[in-house]
Amino acid sequence: MDAPALPIRRSRRQLVEAVRERPFLIVTGETGSGKSTQLPRYLYEAGLAEHGAIGVTQPRRVATVSVAQRVAEEMGCALGALVGYQVRFDDCTSEDTAIRYMTDGCLLRQILTDPLLSKYSVIVLDEAHERSLSTDILFGLLKKLFLQKQPAGRRTEMKVVVMSATLEVEKLSEFFGHCPVLHIPGRSYPVKEIFCNLLSPRDVGSSAYVTEAVKVTLDVHLNEPEGDILVFLTGQNEIERACDLLFKKAESIDYRYEVHDRAVEGLLILPLYGSMSTDQQKRIFLPAPRGIRKCVVSTNIAATSLTIEGVRYVVDSGFVKQLNHNPRVSLDILEVVPISKSEAKQRAGRAGRTSAGKSFGLYSREFWEQCMPEHTLPEIRRSSLTSVILTLKCLSVHDVIRFPYLDPPEERHILEALKELYQCNAIDRRGHVTRLGEFLVQFPLPPKLSCAVIKAASLGCEDLLLPIAAMLSVENVFIRPGDPQKQKEAELQHQELASQVGGCNDFATLLNIFEQCKASESPSAWCKEYWIHWRAVKSAFSVERQLREITTKLKQLPDFPKETFEGSRTEILRRCLCAGYFINVARRSAARTFCTMDGHGSIVYIHPSSTLYNQETLLEWIIFHEVAVTSKIYVRTVCPVRYEWLRELLPRLHQLDAHELSSVAREEVTEEEITRWEQREELKRQCEGVTDSS
Ligand code: ADP
Repeated sequence: MDAPALPIRRSRRQLVEAVRERPFLIVTGETGSGKSTQLPRYLYEAGLAEHGAIGVTQPRRVATVSVAQRVAEEMGCALGALVGYQVRFDDCTSEDTAIRYMTDGCLLRQILTDPLLSKYSVIVLDEAHERSLSTDILFGLLKKLFLQKQPAGRRTEMKVVVMSATLEVEKLSEFFGHCPVLHIPGRSYPVKEIFCNLLSPRDVGSSAYVTEAVKVTLDVHLNEPEGDILVFLTGQNEIERACDLLFKKAESIDYRYEVHDRAVEGLLILPLYGSMSTDQQKRIFLPAPRGIRKCVVSTNIAATSLTIEGVRYVVDSGFVKQLNHNPRVSLDILEVVPISKSEAKQRAGRAGRTSAGKSFGLYSREFWEQCMPEHTLPEIRRSSLTSVILTLKCLSVHDVIRFPYLDPPEERHILEALKELYQCNAIDRRGHVTRLGEFLVQFPLPPKLSCAVIKAASLGCEDLLLPIAAMLSVENVFIRPGDPQKQKEAELQHQELASQVGGCNDFATLLNIFEQCKASESPSAWCKEYWIHWRAVKSAFSVERQLREITTKLKQLPDFPKETFEGSRTEILRRCLCAGYFINVARRSAARTFCTMDGHGSIVYIHPSSTLYNQETLLEWIIFHEVAVTSKIYVRTVCPVRYEWLRELLPRLHQLDAHELSSVAREEVTEEEITRWEQREELKRQCEGVTDSS
């Protein structure tokens, strides 16, 4: 299949020449102008991959796979041959792969083993305007690669292309030494933006936007001339719910069109979110059959990462699901928040790709003015930095405060990350990576989870932890049907799975699902019976295999820790979890509330999805995997623990104060300070011993 005539075609020669001439180039252009699919191919065809591959990063997994697929098709090769992709836990590349699409996180991990990126002749950082955390760190690292004083650590012949929709181009150019900017002229049609006045500032925090989006979508379907609809919602659950509602409501509309697949009454309803299978994703690009209107219900992914042709109507909920680090409670929280005004404009623009269009914002003007910020805050300013700081430290970037950030994160966020790394024993008091830190960084998992896996491996019982780590790395495995009757049925089955392992440990339930499904003769039928997402468990099987490979390699190292433990399976499991999750520990403070022990003393509740919900009064100490905030702070995936298991670990939570951490960050620790800490640590340990009340 030949490449389509996209706006980028006219700039082909200019682009190739610009890349040849200078180390850094910025390319901007409207979403859909052909940057992601065509530019890497142009560079390859111009011979720029002769001395190494062309690596193209994308912040999102789905877009990485989808773009690679498209380019492989266009270039007439099998995926994984000339064109391939690599995302966390899924490597579809070979020796012959000259154009490697990958997530930015993947490239960041590659730098750990190959700091000079010697495999690559060109690195293309795509979707730079998204300002994902890994892309931001890559900006700094690539800049450093060129500025290294030691010739041995320099890569002057490598080319770096940064591609972005038109945001913040001057700032980027300045960051890369005032590098040239090439703009690809595009074409878009006018979009009429309509405020539907269905959401007011009071609706922040409610989920009313799901049903309102369904109403507006049906309205558009019934009253507007032909053209596809793109609905922006927040996440998988909301999207599935909206699709169910649309499907049901569409059934009651006058019968006018033929029925096709999930198309009822002329509406072909297609969900689109990150964890969907690639076959399902492919369908969103196919044109709808004649007389049928396509309606894609998507996360933010369709705003810039994927362009769907033929959309004339956008329904914008005005919300996005974002992982935000909340320094007040010192936790990463998945929140539904209003989008920024620039994001809303980008979403609306999707309606004007092929002809004039309309965008229906569910919100009121008041909501727009009061709740929506001008721009989205870059991820580096709002998310936990623990993993990237560990990566930087492992790359010998010790002064993590003065690293060349495009937008420096707040210093207190850096300090918090250092504190957590210190608590996990990944760095020492001087801010140097410990041996454990070097082990931890090998796992593409949050440090807390890697800690638990390593503890289990040292006890020879990784079989307990690897499936759990895998299950926590894939999408939610529990199906929650929209229909109340079916929902009851699903809940009963989920309870059954929990009670088979004692009904008091969400981590153990995940292990139970993994093991039962694996042992079953027909895993997909087993999943169906228990209302479990088979696709999610299937990916967990593959993730587990990969985590096992890493563990096996580490265990062969002569200095990998070896420990022994006498106790039941459930106790070992809980103690291994403690080794990582003691940072996320809370103690019951009232009938149903718990208080975190990290110095913030936040009040948290057990999430209703937990098997421990309604058992609060029986518990004292709990650890948890994650936090969700609605009207209250909820903890999810919970396990009760005993104080005696935590006693030795808890003092680590309070050892360093902000001033000391600042020195750790900059490596300006004096011997005197170290002695002072040691004395205080001893004192704290003694104090903790007195408060044991379990
Ligand atoms: P940009 O990077 O400038 O946003 P892209 O190169 O991603 O643009 O997209 C160019 C065109 O290729 C768009 O019209 C888009 O619809 C199409 N396209 C991209 N990926 C796929 C795919 N997997 N299947 C079908 N069409 C695709």
